Amino acid sequence: MEKPDSAAKKRLSHPRIRLLLLLWSMVTALPFGARAQRAEQTRILRAALAAIRPDRPVAAFDLDSTILVNKVRQARIMREYGRLRGDARLAGCAPVAVQSWELRDTMRRCGLSESEIETVVPDIRDFWRDRFFSSEYCKDDTPAAGAHDYLRAVLAAGGEILYITGRHEQMGPGTLESFRRAGFPLPDGERVQLWLKPALADDDDRWKEICHARLQQLRGLACAFDNEPTHVNAYKRSFPDAVVVHLDTDHSRRPVEVHPDVPSIHDFVMEPGE
Ligand SMILES: [Mg+2]
Repeated sequence: MEKPDSAAKKRLSHPRIRLLLLLWSMVTALPFGARAQRAEQTRILRAALAAIRPDRPVAAFDLDSTILVNKVRQARIMREYGRLRGDARLAGCAPVAVQSWELRDTMRRCGLSESEIETVVPDIRDFWRDRFFSSEYCKDDTPAAGAHDYLRAVLAAGGEILYITGRHEQMGPGTLESFRRAGFPLPDGERVQLWLKPALADDDDRWKEICHARLQQLRGLACAFDNEPTHVNAYKRSFPDAVVVHLDTDHSRRPVEVHPDVPSIHDFVMEPGE
């Protein structure tokens, strides 16, 4: 029997419904980066560190668009596609041309016309998917500004780091390679752990629910960071005493507003403190 949530998702994935949701989110939602206030960032990040205590040591970090930036990965895929198709504009795609998850935006910034984009989109989808969700390509991800120092500060505060991601297990080696390149603390099975989704096809939201249930059984959650409004809201519901922080980078564009009690930040850069 079909799971109720997958039936609902099927309805939501109808092209006309998706278009309506997108239009609704464009009317009601703030643009990416508009919710976070740079002047508040250091205070928010320090509050999250201050929440770490011996009986509540866990700091949870999402990966994509939270502590890692995938523009290099996205641009590499676009360049390889451009070379395959003999399109010099796409073959020269630089990471700066990647401003969102929307491949149309990237192609537009590379100089393709709207009609050219419409021709390419159906063709590039599978090419993109086969590479984007792979170890070979995700190893190129770069650290978000300040993330390296902030993760180190969590450990210095006596905290434990839990990387919780919607990436599936086959992306593990590439994920660890990007951690090494970024100088992030590596999983040691004790104070630093990496929770990967068992399989690519598993639903991201359901996976995060499973992680929340596992978190409830661990020692307490001090703070959590994620770029998806749905996920930070779920953290706040499950762990009302934790400092839950939204990364105002980008997200899936589902029309969900961040809970008013969840502050937003741009990245992990802190002003030198007193
Ligand atoms: Mg993310």
